[in-house]
Amino acid sequence: MPNRSVIILGGGVGGVVAATRIRKRFPASRVVLVDRERDHLFQPSLLWLATGSREPERIRRPLNSLRRLGVEVIIGEVTELNPHERRIRVNGSDITADAMVISLGADLAPERVPGLADAGHNLYTLAGATSVRDALRSFDSGRVVVLTAAPAYKCPAAPYEAAMLVRDYLSRHGRSGAATVEIYAAEPGPMATAGPEVAAAVRGMVEAQGVIYHPSHQVESVDPVARKLQFADGTTAGFDLLIYVPPHRAPAVLGPTGLLAENGWISVNAETLATSVPEVFAIGDATAIPIPSGKVLPKAGVFAHQQAKIVADNLTAVWAGQTPHGVFDGKGACFIETGGGRAGYGSGDFYAAPVPTMRLHRPARWWHWGKVMFERRWLGRWP
Ligand SMILES: Cc1cc2nc3c(=O)[nH]c(=O)nc-3n(C[C@H](O)[C@H](O)[C@H](O)COP(=O)(O)OP(=O)(O)OC[C@H]3O[C@@H](n4cnc5c(N)ncnc54)[C@H](O)[C@@H]3O)c2cc1C
Repeated sequence: MPNRSVIILGGGVGGVVAATRIRKRFPASRVVLVDRERDHLFQPSLLWLATGSREPERIRRPLNSLRRLGVEVIIGEVTELNPHERRIRVNGSDITADAMVISLGADLAPERVPGLADAGHNLYTLAGATSVRDALRSFDSGRVVVLTAAPAYKCPAAPYEAAMLVRDYLSRHGRSGAATVEIYAAEPGPMATAGPEVAAAVRGMVEAQGVIYHPSHQVESVDPVARKLQFADGTTAGFDLLIYVPPHRAPAVLGPTGLLAENGWISVNAETLATSVPEVFAIGDATAIPIPSGKVLPKAGVFAHQQAKIVADNLTAVWAGQTPHGVFDGKGACFIETGGGRAGYGSGDFYAAPVPTMRLHRPARWWHWGKVMFERRWLGRWP
């Protein structure tokens, strides 16, 4: 009989890493993983899907195959979550466990900007990235706009990479002369949490690829018929093809749990990922961790991954009667695709005081292949 149990909420980066690691470290455990989607989606590859170098089937894997590792997989929407009882409701039934790891990610909320969903393509979903690909195939000339509809979103590099990859796509298909690629960003600079030097360097990469950059443009509404963006400062911009990153919000099921801080995301201990409720941990995009610079830790898979390992190690150590030693250190790295088979690479310490330290490497083929190898390893290791 299993003598310990845990519910893992979400089968994205954090959920899958936590579930598999807990099963490996504590084989006598009952690990229940719940997700509303049948497939795990490797989100970084959405950029390659949007620009025609991946197919949807290649970048997702069935969550059910985690059963081979002894993980109980339930496909269904979590409609109720009681952290104090460590109880959830899914598919009309209640499940309880000794512990809970919440890795529900961020919900996407394009409806917060009137007209946005009708006017453009959502880069952050499988369907949206697929429709970007289809729209690009028949796009001959005009103005492509990549829009960030709010200043904070997961993977702060992604829309910048998307713009550079679109530009590369158009020039590879002989259409760059008749088309412009522009970014209208709600934020004042790319990857601004990493500091002004990184922001300037990434802006330089983007502009070197011929992308026109308009920072600090907070969209208010979009007119899908006139194909026009209305910004909060009164200015407007037209587009022929709109690719957008929608506003994010914490999953609705977390609302009544009492776990959300004033900023709308789960508050956790920055080192252990413990929430205010004993035996309940939260990792990844559903959390907001204040960092010494006064900002919050960016939402990224690299952090969800590390946090999942820490929680899994600490939880299983306690179950085994040992002292938990795992500490999340706020360190992470990311590739920045620039097109032409090249990528930049940044690695940094976001818990450094007074500001994050980050080293940014110039675009090179080497880093692009690093990203390809990472994707291959992630999807290839699937059980
Ligand atoms: C285009 C793009 C490119 C990216 N590139 C990078 C990159 O290069 N590097 C990097 O580090 N990060 C990247 N990211 C970000 C990364 O994918 C996320 O930060 C990471 O997936 C977060 O992991 P998570 O486990 O917190 O949430 P997710 O992986 O989003 O998983 C959350 C899961 O919870 C499920 N869920 C939510 N609510 C419910 C509910 N009520 N009931 C049941 N299930 C529910 C969802 O279906 C989902 O599967 C990228 C993201 C995008 C969109």
